[in-house]
Amino acid sequence: MNTTPTEPVAVIGAGPAGIATALAMYAVGIPVRLYERYREPRAAGNIVNLWPPALHALEQIGVDVDDIGAFCESEFRNAHDKVRAHVLFPPSVIEKYGNGGFIGLTRPDLYERMVDALPPGVLVGHKEVVGLEDQGDRVVVRFKDETSVTTPLVVGADGINSVVRDLVWGLPPVREHNLHVIGGYTFDLPAAVSPREAIIRHSRTVQASHTGIRSKGRDGSEWWVLEAWDANKPAPTDLKSHALSLAKEFPPEMAELIANTSEDHIFRWPIRDRGPVPTVWSKGRVTFAGDAVHATSPYAAYGAGMSIVDGYFLGQTLNGVDLGDLTALGKALAHYEELRVEHTAGQVKLAYMLGRNFHHIPAPMRPLRDAFFDHSKFMQKTVGDSNPAEISAQLDIMGPNLHTPAPSASAAR
Ligand SMILES: Cc1cc2nc3c(=O)[nH]c(=O)nc-3n(C[C@H](O)[C@H](O)[C@H](O)COP(=O)(O)OP(=O)(O)OC[C@H]3O[C@@H](n4cnc5c(N)ncnc54)[C@H](O)[C@@H]3O)c2cc1C
Repeated sequence: MNTTPTEPVAVIGAGPAGIATALAMYAVGIPVRLYERYREPRAAGNIVNLWPPALHALEQIGVDVDDIGAFCESEFRNAHDKVRAHVLFPPSVIEKYGNGGFIGLTRPDLYERMVDALPPGVLVGHKEVVGLEDQGDRVVVRFKDETSVTTPLVVGADGINSVVRDLVWGLPPVREHNLHVIGGYTFDLPAAVSPREAIIRHSRTVQASHTGIRSKGRDGSEWWVLEAWDANKPAPTDLKSHALSLAKEFPPEMAELIANTSEDHIFRWPIRDRGPVPTVWSKGRVTFAGDAVHATSPYAAYGAGMSIVDGYFLGQTLNGVDLGDLTALGKALAHYEELRVEHTAGQVKLAYMLGRNFHHIPAPMRPLRDAFFDHSKFMQKTVGDSNPAEISAQLDIMGPNLHTPAPSASAAR
């Protein structure tokens, strides 16, 4: 029985997952409200890279992707510029994006474009969720300001510290990776830096990378340095000097990029997740998207991308479903999970393992590791071939557009 046909779906949290979910719902004709605790969405940080599935999703949910970022050819190298892997995409991706399937942009630009696509009235700011009650035929969502709404479906897209997940299942503990990353961006490019390249370099202990970005028609470059850092240790007081000290063992353009970056474009993040991705994401009339269920290390450069693609798949699997009918809703949500859990779980695991292998193996083993990475095909096979192929395969599963029914899980494998 359709008991709540006209009440909007309640998406909680206006980050990449929540905005994408709201846009996808709207695009397939499902009434939706996006509740955000702050007055408006706030870009968490400054830099971001997107893989092709996220770009396809953005395009399909109505975001203007014209000149959204720099399409970069990507290489993994050691600190002395020996190439360890060239990131290769399948022919269908190359046909559309060239081999530049790793797309660099600024986070504020991404948020601006996503928010601009939201129809008036969908985003409701200053609405912090503090309570939920699934009554079977609807969910009551309670806010800190003591108001409430009822809805046939709640999508918890409220990030790594998800209140919604905590209310439904309880949150698993934070898994500290004991790594931190310092990153920034500049439009003042050293001669040796191409704005259409992503170069990911590793020394024995540090990753120092840069990728091209496009922002409002300008070419630039984002950079980051990443190292082991005990989660309990205070952050360095001067991020720029610290980043410069880490850049010393890399080619000089790394230090030049950092030196050219203004202090207010430099951020630091400790790296953490919530451990393995749960195998079940939905309970009754509540489901999840984004970091709330698959917080991932930036080693994947894919957390925001996966979150955006979650939104796409929610729109695709819920399209035409009577949300009042709990059985039909449960079936659609199970389909959504079948399409998302395995892929996101694999990415979270891979990103975690890369961080451990590059920054946490005992010092005596590091020369052996690096000789292996320099002289075997291992890096090419993993980060150069199989991971981009797995990510690109999402495009086939997504299909040509949002309105094409999502494939069955077996067809998706
Ligand atoms: C250093 C770093 C680099 C990264 N680089 C990349 C990259 O290159 N590519 C990439 O794809 N990903 C990257 N990521 C990952 C990416 O940032 C996240 O995966 C992404 O932001 C997750 O989006 P989300 O919408 O799930 O959560 P969030 O971005 O955390 O958004 C959650 C939203 O929910 C709101 N909220 C929280 N609680 C409540 C509540 N109770 N009520 C209402 N609203 C609430 C918050 O205010 C926020 O707006 C990186 C992450 C880090 C830390």
